[in-house]
Amino acid sequence: MEQLAPEVPDALDPKRVVGTRCRGCDRVTAGCLDRCPMCGSTSVYSVDPVNELVERPALTGASLEFVEPFEELRSVGEMAALLRN
Ligand SMILES: [Zn+2]
Repeated sequence: MEQLAPEVPDALDPKRVVGTRCRGCDRVTAGCLDRCPMCGSTSVYSVDPVNELVERPALTGASLEFVEPFEELRSVGEMAALLRN
């Protein structure tokens, strides 16, 4: 059975979005930063935030679903989580 990769919305296109990970506290922040906004460490490096968004939840056993864009989601940053069901 062929399994297709989910289509990544334009808002998460890695060519448009950059991220920074801190070696000190492991925080991932949107944008290209030279200092961690959480702990102040300058030991940071660039990451692909789309990979982070997909891999981190998977490590906890959570599932991830990409949906078609809609206005309500756009107004909250184009991401949301269902924490309990
Ligand atoms: Zn940090």
